[in-house]
Amino acid sequence: MAFDDLYQKIILDHSRHPRNKENLDFISDDLVFENPTCGDSVKVAVDVNNEGIVLRVRFDGDGCAISTSSASMMTEILQGKTIPEALQTTRTFLQIMVNTSDSTLEDWGEIEALEGVRKFPQRVKCATLPWHAAEYALKHPAGEK
Ligand code: ZN
Repeated sequence: MAFDDLYQKIILDHSRHPRNKENLDFISDDLVFENPTCGDSVKVAVDVNNEGIVLRVRFDGDGCAISTSSASMMTEILQGKTIPEALQTTRTFLQIMVNTSDSTLEDWGEIEALEGVRKFPQRVKCATLPWHAAEYALKHPAGEK
């Protein structure tokens, strides 16, 4: 797999030092999202305040560099958005990654590093897994913690 050097650095940084990765044992194992072809598993918690603003997104799980870095960058992107905004962002990301959107990740900051993954269909599932977990969590937010 060939990545641009800068992109590879971003992915490695987030996979080695994931942001907002915490033990989320309070979330049922029934809510673990899995990608069996790679062995990735992830669960996501969304903390929302009374105004419906996403204060924090946290994730837990084991995964490859792609899934872990995608989860890490996702937690930073979704923070501060309203739930509808965060859901829209999530849907757009998923559409971009499966090439059903004309949009790109060009103005998304670091996560643009994952755009090259679209050429590798098996790895797309790694990148999208945490976002599927987030989509579920956004529809079932835990409330402020
Ligand atoms: Zn993976």
